[in-house]
Amino acid sequence: MATAPLGPSFGGRLVRPGDPDYDEDRRVWNGSVDRSPALIAHCAGVADVIDAVRFAAASGAPVAVRSGGHSFPGQSVCDGGTVIDLSALRGIRVDPAARTVRAQAGVLLGELDRETQAFGLAVPSGIVTHTGIAGLTLGGGIGWLMRKYGLTVDQLLAVDLVTADGALVKASADENPDLFWGVRGGGGNFGIVTEFTYRLHPVGPVVLAGPILWPMAESARLLRFYREWITSVPDELTTAVVHRKAPAVGYLPPEVHGKPVVMVVCCYAGPVEEGQEVLRPLRAWGPPLLDLCTPKPFTEHQALFDPSFPHGRWYYFKSCDVDRLSDEVIDRTAEHASRIASPLTAFPIFQLGGAVARVPEDATAFGGRHSGHTFNINATTEGPEGFEAERDWARGLWSALAPHQTGVYANFLMEEGEDRVRQAYGPQKYRRLQELKRRYDPGNLFRLNQNIPPAPTPVPARHTPPSAVSGAAASSGRSGDR
Ligand code: FAD
Repeated sequence: MATAPLGPSFGGRLVRPGDPDYDEDRRVWNGSVDRSPALIAHCAGVADVIDAVRFAAASGAPVAVRSGGHSFPGQSVCDGGTVIDLSALRGIRVDPAARTVRAQAGVLLGELDRETQAFGLAVPSGIVTHTGIAGLTLGGGIGWLMRKYGLTVDQLLAVDLVTADGALVKASADENPDLFWGVRGGGGNFGIVTEFTYRLHPVGPVVLAGPILWPMAESARLLRFYREWITSVPDELTTAVVHRKAPAVGYLPPEVHGKPVVMVVCCYAGPVEEGQEVLRPLRAWGPPLLDLCTPKPFTEHQALFDPSFPHGRWYYFKSCDVDRLSDEVIDRTAEHASRIASPLTAFPIFQLGGAVARVPEDATAFGGRHSGHTFNINATTEGPEGFEAERDWARGLWSALAPHQTGVYANFLMEEGEDRVRQAYGPQKYRRLQELKRRYDPGNLFRLNQNIPPAPTPVPARHTPPSAVSGAAASSGRSGDR
């Protein structure tokens, strides 16, 4: 279908194949993704987003939505079609008295921390500062503060969202509460969020945080201790266990670079002295190779993993939740970890619980609040060389964990098909999300995401004379309500 081009009133930048910036601009964080859109529309404001949505809808071609560009499978760029890019929308406004912050969709986690930590406040978010707040929030948001304060979606007070027909709507507990439920975990299925309003919490600015490292050969023994120890730690402490070859990064001495290690990475969101007490049993468990868990600015801890996940490397992920670290889970984990080949591959196992699990499961679309741990099995290489072998390794660990899987976090999925998306939400929420999708995006314009196809439009019930209604249907009360 011929479509009128975006007009001269478009305030942002339009980039097309052949333009000098095109090749740089079509890149996303995951270097293994190589797609060529027909148009990249860098929006300068909400009016541009509305125009771009109307243009993309009329074109009939695919539309991808990009904020931080960190989608694991690169769903924020497409072949042909339009990329609606929000990365220029970087406004942040903190209200320290009300303990709220408004942030536009292109903001990155580190930028939000920078502005909010100036007041000793923070929005719980993720663990790499160059991730976008938009995709992370809409999927849920797990990170170092979650056991104390909850997921990123649990801090959300309101969003501004442009729907598939180009209308700007607000969603909050009072306005469009159904949509507000859906955007708290249901991803980019319902429209383009242009602005988020979050609740803030006091954090640091100095926290006790960082990794404690042991040789990877200790993994199975350490994990058996760890699973008992975490049952008694307070919610202030969130940990993640990471297996990898020690990276060649500045915070590690050269003599450990490349050595297989297992680390318990900690963040204590409370008084430092209290945190030292809580960590005492872990430190006493066995002499670590290195103990880098020290008092430091929260923003410094947030950036800990930045050098390990730079833009442009080739990344592949498999993910799953488990209830507990059973002997079987531990043994399979230790066994597969010892076979990591790439010096860049690293997989965190996040500790959930605490405030995440205290929010009722059906309060938000996010699925899996009662999971014990989230595995984020990440295979990484510098480029295509060795990528396939590393990907097979990730699939191998994931398959070994398959009998113990209880679910999956939508933001940690690759393009794995409808069943896996359904698994992320469970059947009831999935149905509710499908209904919502039918209301807000019946044509599935926003489908380059962990897609929830719209529920089929109900066929209006034909009028049937009462005498013709069968006894079974009449008594079940279900006739005509599907
Ligand atoms: P984008 O690629 O820009 O967007 C991803 C998808 O989100 C898009 O395909 C689109 O469907 C949707 N979307 C983006 N912007 C909008 C918008 N404005 N409105 C509507 N829909 C939109 N997750 C965690 O929970 N915790 C972590 O600690 C964590 N760490 C990560 C570290 C790295 C290095 C990476 C790459 C990812 C990490 N993630 C983490 C996963 C992350 O939450 C998702 O990849 C998320 O989608 C990234 O958001 P983005 O805006 O950067 O991505």
